[in-house]
Amino acid sequence: MQKNNRWKWLILLCLWAGYAQAFETHSTVVQISTIQALLKGVYDGEMSFGQLKTLGDFGFGTFNGLDGEMAAFDGQFYQVKSDGTVHLVPDTLKTPYAAVHFFQTDKTVVLNAPIQSYPHFQNALDPHLPSRNRPYALKVTGTFDYLKTRSVSKQRKPYPPTVAVVAHQSIFEFENITGTAVGYWFPDYMDKLAVPGYHLHFISEDKQHGGHVLNCRLSKATIAIDFIDSVKLLIPQDAAFQGADFSTYSRKELDKVVKDND
Ligand SMILES: [Zn+2]
Repeated sequence: MQKNNRWKWLILLCLWAGYAQAFETHSTVVQISTIQALLKGVYDGEMSFGQLKTLGDFGFGTFNGLDGEMAAFDGQFYQVKSDGTVHLVPDTLKTPYAAVHFFQTDKTVVLNAPIQSYPHFQNALDPHLPSRNRPYALKVTGTFDYLKTRSVSKQRKPYPPTVAVVAHQSIFEFENITGTAVGYWFPDYMDKLAVPGYHLHFISEDKQHGGHVLNCRLSKATIAIDFIDSVKLLIPQDAAFQGADFSTYSRKELDKVVKDND
């Protein structure tokens, strides 16, 4: 290559790099149903994982009958059952509630100091989310000195509300476990649609353990952040959702369902 040409390529590369930094990628989260519907016991949906996998390669959710915690990243979908086992999700399973999208990193954060709890982890990440009024997708990779997760067991009809289900949730505690936690941060104003704030589901590197993250302790983690600029809500057309009573909503109940209650 001539010297002149080499310079041209270098300039083009710099321009492209500047462009990539200045303009974040466009990311649309597709969400099936609402967190309010899930809390009220609408646990059966019509969306198959075969269909869901065409809408994203990353995300979280649950399964019909509330049969465990779902985490997806790098195009693989995992089911963490209440006995703690992890399974690849077959296309035939269905979901009553999930959020997925095609993950593209807009910003990478490296946390490199001891973090004593999940709330501390959230405080450390907060300054890296430039606005409280838009969603973010988060992909956390690292080794957790301590990690506490949970899963829930498959329910039978008539379905109890989620707050009653989590009273019997399975708790898993790990030390020195490496893996990936994936999920979303949703703004407060979306609280009937999605869990506001941080919500992560974990899968270990060996794909043997996982669950909904309740607490953690760590000293180093890398967090890839995808700035979300739109959310598409797919409204379930089945009788259970269409006939549900959404006139009441309890934020306290939601906290009990998603947070560590110890
Ligand atoms: Zn969860």
